[in-house]
Amino acid sequence: MHAPTSLGEAFCQPRQFMEARDRVNKENSSNDKGSKVVWKGILISVQPRIRLLRSFDQRNHNYLGYALRVQGVADNGEREFSIGIGKSAQAKHQLRCGDIVSGQSLPVEDTQKEPVDYYKTSKLIIIERSITTQDINPPWHQVPPELEIYRQRGHRRLDPHTYEVKCQSCVWGCRLAVEMIIDQWNPGNKRYRFETFCYGPRSCSLYKAGATRKVPGRKGMTWEEPDWVDEQAVSHRGLEE
Ligand code: SF4
Repeated sequence: MHAPTSLGEAFCQPRQFMEARDRVNKENSSNDKGSKVVWKGILISVQPRIRLLRSFDQRNHNYLGYALRVQGVADNGEREFSIGIGKSAQAKHQLRCGDIVSGQSLPVEDTQKEPVDYYKTSKLIIIERSITTQDINPPWHQVPPELEIYRQRGHRRLDPHTYEVKCQSCVWGCRLAVEMIIDQWNPGNKRYRFETFCYGPRSCSLYKAGATRKVPGRKGMTWEEPDWVDEQAVSHRGLEE
């Protein structure tokens, strides 16, 4: 992958950015529906954005779009933050790690249900494309595939520490927002957490499964997701796929 462009380069058009930010701040002050934040920065990852619904031993995926992790400026501060975009925006812009991008997004309303900080993104602009070369070793930084490909590939659980340290930039890594229905007879009884998964090749040298996932149920019961669930989810793929 092309070494990330410096932040100084990333903010090479400060006047336009400041003008856009001031314009949106002005619009926001007279807008009751919520305040869009103008952001800009370098993409340090593009991964699928998924919500996982668990009900004891049952699980269901909701493919929301893509999650951009950005090092840049949002809400008047320089920092790292994450942005949710839809699948059509990704199909149009073909974003990937190293691109310099700007946009406008709303802060997430319920942070338990979203794996990103901001969503409902508009005015997405690519300022500079990453000059990428093919990765020889993981993590992988190509343009991520369509969400349907992720669904077809299936995932294995990924150790959260390995994700943090080695897989955050990989197109096959993913941090899912998980909603757990504790009692199916009382669907309002829910808990939330985040889980990390890998959609990548089974042969990846960086992969570590980590501890099995435990799902709470009614009357204090717990279901421990066995290894065969992961094995079954990716068994249709060869080791290198
Ligand atoms: S373990 Fe998975 S997410 Fe991590 S680098 Fe390998 S393929 Fe990517």
